[in-house]
Amino acid sequence: MAEEMHGKIILVSGGGSGIGRAAALRLARAGAAVALADLSEARAQATAGEIIASGGKALALAGDVSWEADVARFVAATVAAFGRLDGAFNNAGISPAAVGCAGTPITEWSEEAFARVIAVNLTGVFLAMKHEIAAMARTEAGSGGGGAIVNTASVAGLVGLRGSSAYVASKHGVIGLTRTAALEYAPLAIRVNAVCPGYIDTPMVAPHMPTRGEDILRAVPFARLGTPAEIAELVLWLLSDCASFVTGAAYVADGGYSAA
Ligand code: NAD
Repeated sequence: MAEEMHGKIILVSGGGSGIGRAAALRLARAGAAVALADLSEARAQATAGEIIASGGKALALAGDVSWEADVARFVAATVAAFGRLDGAFNNAGISPAAVGCAGTPITEWSEEAFARVIAVNLTGVFLAMKHEIAAMARTEAGSGGGGAIVNTASVAGLVGLRGSSAYVASKHGVIGLTRTAALEYAPLAIRVNAVCPGYIDTPMVAPHMPTRGEDILRAVPFARLGTPAEIAELVLWLLSDCASFVTGAAYVADGGYSAA
């Protein structure tokens, strides 16, 4: 799919690291202009710089996906820079470790920590779709009309995971939102899908490998972590016209983890 995304304009959140960064680079390599939104301005700029240095088009945007004003600005800035919005990868997310709750059972979560994980991982996807779909509808986006959205859920959107209640709840919610958006916006030819990565080698997971690595790898039939690039291939396909009949789906890429 070398030039599959040629001329498409795609907004990627969490594009400064891990899966978002890999997807942004892959989309750009396939010809897309990519707007990168991230809490870390430096990381967003680093990914944008890599794309521009290799001859692509990119825009770095800093802000928080859980703040509606920031999300509205991400979409408006993308449309202002590139003319319209064809697709989005709503991927920014945090793990329980980000709120000091790695491995914490439900009775020990504070309401505040729980709410922050939901705000970023679930409300962030709602806000993104709200503004992205409005922009797609306004601008008759894309060469073939419509648009495509991919939301990052997780295998934690399909099964429970001890010690990760807010994360699991947020990712189950992402799949529900994805299905509902697919139904609501099929008449506008906007496709909405989710990806459900298993354990992927990113800064979200790598710090846990020294202590939990053996347990994690025992649960993965391929006995390794996935790479961000392996998820990027799936995201590319779902955002491309190759997936023109695919909507409302949640695609697993987990080395067999959820097959057990
Ligand atoms: P990562 O920590 O490497 O990257 C996440 C990026 O999102 C960072 O650049 C961070 O600055 C940004 N971000 C965090 N909160 C934000 C906010 N409020 N607003 C804007 N940007 C924000 O993580 P990753 O592993 O690449 O994870 C990406 C997505 O994939 C997340 O939604 C995560 O839940 C999901 N996921 C990851 C794995 C895994 O094993 N790594 C597995 C399943 C799902």
